[in-house]
Amino acid sequence: MRLLLLAPPGAGKGTQAKRLSQYYGIEHISTGDMLRREVADATPLGLEAKTYLDRGDLVPDELIREMVVERVSEADPKGGFLLDGYPRNLAQAEEADALARDRGITINGAVYLDVSAEELLRRLMARSGTESRSDDNEETIRHRIEVFEAQTRPLADYFRQRGLLISVDGEQPVEKVTQDIIDKLAAAGAGGAGAGGAGAGAAGGSVPGDAAGVTPSPGPDRPPTDGGSH
Ligand code: ADP
Repeated sequence: MRLLLLAPPGAGKGTQAKRLSQYYGIEHISTGDMLRREVADATPLGLEAKTYLDRGDLVPDELIREMVVERVSEADPKGGFLLDGYPRNLAQAEEADALARDRGITINGAVYLDVSAEELLRRLMARSGTESRSDDNEETIRHRIEVFEAQTRPLADYFRQRGLLISVDGEQPVEKVTQDIIDKLAAAGAGGAGAGGAGAGAAGGSVPGDAAGVTPSPGPDRPPTDGGSH
């Protein structure tokens, strides 16, 4: 299974990415997490990316490209990946298309989490009190939402035109959002866990349960069960 995850800041992208990658037994590749790690390690890439991250702006495409290509190339032969945070603008979407074509990679779906701007702001402001991300203050949060609206939201149409868009209501409970995505992917013919060579491969068939509470499924019809963690 090869998925892209497209969602505004605060929509629950990280949470769903974790649950879906566990369910399908695929690697979760988060460009935001990778960039934050580069910044923390003060690598040349991190030093260059930091000012963009702190402002809530997109990091230049060429800095992202190499980072993504490397991780995707590693994950692809192991059963697939969920790419969380890329592509994020039209140039990256076209680049992703070209890269996939060159390498013979077929994307199964582009998942879009739909959440209203008011709800996003509410969630992000609540989170800013508990997490210490340098881009979680009100001004930067508002800017990140604007950047999403201007640059990333148009990708929903881009992927819809290619028959890849899986749009779900991101204001539902976490478990229901995951279930809707799994159901819609199955209905679109992308299959469930184990389909397309995923599942059995990547995690050796046993993905450990964790706080996300998703158990890998042996087939497309079984919903992920909540381990009672919430
Ligand atoms: P959020 O969706 O909450 O903004 P992410 O962790 O996905 O959080 O991204 C954090 C920041 O990382 C973005 O604001 C941006 O600066 C940078 N970033 C992540 N992915 C990309 C990308 N594909 N292109 C450019 N910048 C990116």
